Parts: sequence; C-alpha cells; structure tokens
Amino acid sequence: MRIIDIINDSRNPLFSFEILPPLKGNSIFRVYDIIEKLKRFDPKFVNITSHHSEYIYKPLPDGTHRRVSVVKRPGTVAIAAAIQNRYGLIPVPHIICKGFSREETEYALLDLNFLGITNLLVLRGDEKGADPMHGQGHSHQYATELQNQINLFNKGIGLDDMNIEGIETPFSYGMACYPEKHEEAPNMESDLYYLKKKVENGADYLITQMFFDNEKYFSFVERCRAEGITVPIIPGIKPISKKTQLTVLPKIFRTDIPEELASRIRESKSDSEVKEAGIEWGIRQCMELMEKGAPGIHFYTMSVSDSVSKIAEKLF
Ligand code: FAD
Repeated sequence: MRIIDIINDSRNPLFSFEILPPLKGNSIFRVYDIIEKLKRFDPKFVNITSHHSEYIYKPLPDGTHRRVSVVKRPGTVAIAAAIQNRYGLIPVPHIICKGFSREETEYALLDLNFLGITNLLVLRGDEKGADPMHGQGHSHQYATELQNQINLFNKGIGLDDMNIEGIETPFSYGMACYPEKHEEAPNMESDLYYLKKKVENGADYLITQMFFDNEKYFSFVERCRAEGITVPIIPGIKPISKKTQLTVLPKIFRTDIPEELASRIRESKSDSEVKEAGIEWGIRQCMELMEKGAPGIHFYTMSVSDSVSKIAEKLF
C-alpha cells in the first residue's frame, strides 16, 4: 500500500518513525529492540536510513594510520525486508545519491522490486564525510536526478534503456523538506523552487528535517501552500536528550532551539533532566502539531527510542 493512500485514508494523524541500520558488525536485534518498543503505537510505516561510504583512519602497530573507506551502517535494503517479514510493517528504505553510483542504485531498486518493497524516501544524502571517490562521476548530484531514475524505472526503463520486466507495483515515494531552509540554499525562495520541482516530479508527500519551534513548521507549510505545493508535509520530530545538543543540533541541522527549551536545558543538572525536558517539550510540540492539522508525526529515534515511546504514549 502506498504511504500517500494511508495518509489520505486516515482520519487521525499517523504515527511513524525512522531507524538507523546498526553499526557494521552489530546485531539486527538492536533494530528489533526499537520496533518492539514502538510497535504498540501502531506505526503506519518505518523508515530505514541509508549511509554512504566514508573514510576512517585505522591505527597500525607502528603508530601510523591507514585510511580505509567503509560504510558504517550498511544493510538498508536487507533491514527493510527483515522488518516487512518479521512484523508485517510497511518499510520505507531511504535511497540516496551520495556515495552510490547510478548502477548501484539500479541494483538496489531491482532488489527492492524483487522483495515487493514499493515505498521509498528519496534523498540526496549527507555530503559530510562522504568518500569523495565513491560513485564519483556516476552518482546523481541532486535528489531530483535520482527521482528521474526512479520514475524511468517505474516505466520499465533501466540505465542504457534496458528493459525492466515486472513493475506491477511501481515505487511511490516521499522526499525531504526543511522548514528552516536547507543549509546550502541561498534563501527560502530558492529552496522552495527546488522543492516544488520534487513534487511536480512525483513526490507524494514530504517529511521535514527536525525542528523544535512549531511556528517554523506552520509558516513553512503556509509558504508551501502559497507556492502551490499541496502534498502532505509530515513533521519530523526528535526529542532532545543531551545537554551537548544545545549547540550540536543547531550546528548540524541548522535548527533553532526556542529560548524556553534552551534555558530549561541549560539549567538541567544532568542528561537525565535534559531527557525529561525533551519528553515534556516533545509532548507539547506534537500535541499542538496534531491539533493544528499535521498529517502525522514522524519520529527520529536514534538514541532516543525511550523518549519517543514516552511521547507516543500520550498521543497515540
Ligand atoms: P536536494 O533536494 O537535492 O537539495 C539539496 C540542496 O540543493 C538544497 O539546498 C536545494 O535547495 C538545492 N537543490 C535541489 N535541486 C537543485 C538543483 N537542481 N540545482 C541547484 N540546487 C538544487 N541523509 C543521508 O545521508 N541518509 C539518510 O537516510 C537521510 N535521511 C533523511 C531523512 C529526512 C526526512 C531528512 C529531512 C533528511 C535526511 N537526510 C539523510 C539528510 C539529507 O540527505 C541532507 O539534508 C541533504 O543535504 C539534502 O538532501 P535532499 O534530498 O533534501 O537534497
């Protein structure tokens, strides 16, 4: 079933969440533990992030280091299949440009097609730390280019015009958006211009970058509507859990932390107090979003699945 149909058919805001594949070498049970914790809230879909290869430096006995290229969190497609088989939940694997050649993307699409996984989130992928050599010259630069490859695949056209059989259920997909503007966009107008292209090109719905100030989301949705972007815009929410996030989150995700929350974090004496503050803020934030018409809440669970569970308990 397509995520857009689930959204349109639902009378209440939907609960969904994102998980990361375990670090290379760690057990898939780390993923199952999160799903076990959150499945009672009836998640309508579960996203699985995708990660490009990056350089790490391995220490050698002589005190020098060897530079190696690794994917720290491999297994997106396999985990999507495992979630589908084990829980009957709808998996939404992320497909990214960075670090993947067009050929590798096509192999992933073929695997997903064979597995009967038809919902995707289509993204450019993080630039930071990406192995600059991997996929170079053969990977897409922007999410819209990757989108074109997927749209052609849906019509049975592969790379080099190869004929692809058996696309009974074409991929349908969502894409990303940024209520506080993408960090590389020179201004909001430019970001919205490209966002509109994503929607015209076939994105069924959008999921936002995390934010803590609901006003940013509401005014962003209003601007999108004024620009003719009419698809559902699902807020992405991550509860704060550590004091260091006060500076790390604005730096990495370019998101403002409202002063009321910031001062609460500053005054906290331990991370467990910060976690409590994050849960309380998350409940208030999500309640308001749901009351004012958000189509669902999509939770980022990395390191905070306990907090997400406590927030979801109050809302779903
Ligand atoms: P794009 O839509 O390609 O936009 C990137 C920038 O280029 C924007 O500034 C945009 O305005 C501009 N732009 C777009 N098209 C053009 C064009 N044709 N010409 C000129 N400029 C253009 N990262 C991962 O690595 N793995 C993940 O699994 C992952 N999951 C995510 C999930 C969500 C919900 C979100 C919000 C982000 C996720 N990210 C993930 C991070 C994301 O990949 C980065 O934020 C990335 O920098 C941008 O991705 P995008 O798909 O929005 O890119």
